[in-house]
Amino acid sequence: MNVALFGGTFDPVHSGHLSAARAALQGFALDLIYFVPASMPPHKQGRSVTAFHHRYAMVALACAGESRFLPSLLEAPEFDPGKPNYAITTVRKLIQQLSEKDRLYFLIGTDAFLDIHHWHEWKALLECCDFIIASRPGFPISEIAQVIPQELRGGPADGNSIPLLRTRLHLLTTVDADISSSAIRQLASEGQPIRGLVPAAVEEYVQKLGLFIHANQTS
Ligand code: ATP
Ligand code: MG
Repeated sequence: MNVALFGGTFDPVHSGHLSAARAALQGFALDLIYFVPASMPPHKQGRSVTAFHHRYAMVALACAGESRFLPSLLEAPEFDPGKPNYAITTVRKLIQQLSEKDRLYFLIGTDAFLDIHHWHEWKALLECCDFIIASRPGFPISEIAQVIPQELRGGPADGNSIPLLRTRLHLLTTVDADISSSAIRQLASEGQPIRGLVPAAVEEYVQKLGLFIHANQTS
C-alpha cells in the first residue's frame, strides 16, 4: 500500500487540508492518508491551541465518507501526556505499524516544509521516508531546494522532485487553496460565517460547540 502521514494542528481542519490530501491521493496513487492531529504542537506553544479532542473530532468529521482518509490517534495525548509530539517519533511509530511492503510518504505544505530546519532531528526525519510537499499560496515552492543543505543532496533536482541521499522530495504544485486555520478562527471569533471553508459537518460542530468564540490570537 501507498500510505501518507499528514500531521498538523488542524485547529480546525479545513478545505485547504482536504485539497492537499486529495491532490496527493491522485498524484501518488495513495491508498490511505493518516490525518494526525498533534496533541501539543511543538511550534505553537505560544498560543492556546483548541483541546485535542475537539480537533480530533473535527478531523474525524472531515474524513467521514472519504474511504482513504483516516483520522489518526497516533499523537493522542494519553500516550505521552504533557509531552510535545515530534514528527520523527510519529513517523517511526507508523513505520512500525506498517508492513515492509508499504511505502510511506510524509505529506506537508510548503510553509511548514520551509520551516523544517526548526524541527526536532529534521535531517534524520528527511531520511525516514519520501515527502510530498504541497504548494500553498504565499509560500514559494521554488524555495524548497534552498532549505536542503548540500550534504543531504542525492543529486540534481529532476522535474518536480529533489533526490536526497536515501529518499526524495516530491513537489505537488497543483494545490491552490488560499485558506488557513488562523483565518477561520479569526472569522469565527468575529461571528462571521465559515461556510465553504470547512466541511459542512465541521462548520456545524464549530457552531454547536461555540469553538473559537473567545479566540483572541490569530496565529
Ligand atoms: P494555522 O493557520 O493555525 O497555522 P494551517 O491552516 O496552517 O493552520 P496547520 O494545521 O498548521 O494548518 O497545517 C497542517 C499541514 O497542512 C501543514 O503541513 C500545512 O503546511 C498544510 N496546509 C495547511 N493549509 C494548507 C493549504 N491551504 N494549502 C496547502 N497546505 C496546507
Ligand atoms: Mg500552519
